[in-house]
Amino acid sequence: MKKDDCIFCKIANGEIPAKTLYEDDMFRVILDLGPATKGHALILPKDHYANLFELPDETCADVMKLAKKMATRMTERLHADGFNIIQNNFEAAGQTVMHYHLHLIPRYEDDGQHILWNPTTVTQEELEKTMEEIIK
Ligand code: 5GP
Ligand code: ZN
Repeated sequence: MKKDDCIFCKIANGEIPAKTLYEDDMFRVILDLGPATKGHALILPKDHYANLFELPDETCADVMKLAKKMATRMTERLHADGFNIIQNNFEAAGQTVMHYHLHLIPRYEDDGQHILWNPTTVTQEELEKTMEEIIK
């Protein structure tokens, strides 16, 4: 299913041009227009899912297999020193385009990016409480 007013539906299905690295029946992989680093790419499903929670389980599995394939090739071809795979869900987590996409970000020594978080401190009791909240 496509969503009429969704830019990534249009890009994924070829209605709006993008620099395509890979395409099959289910996905298109494009270069990001505002790249964090050289080669920053996005895996877009051709069907519209707003986020991870809407993505069917089989598609989750397929997207990670494709991510591994792309990351391997990109690392080799671009001589990357590392690789981040990132996926944002909802505005609070930094999602700006509400069509599921997985970021493929090649990393280079001294590329000047700060994709990691700021660690905080936590007590054993707080960890215990959080664990209980999740698993109970
Ligand atoms: P988000 O913040 O939702 O996880 O990521 C959205 C990403 O899409 C951003 O990295 C942004 O640069 C990229 N982006 C937004 N609009 C376009 C577009 O029209 N074409 C391409 N190729 N990338 C886009
Ligand atoms: Zn869409």
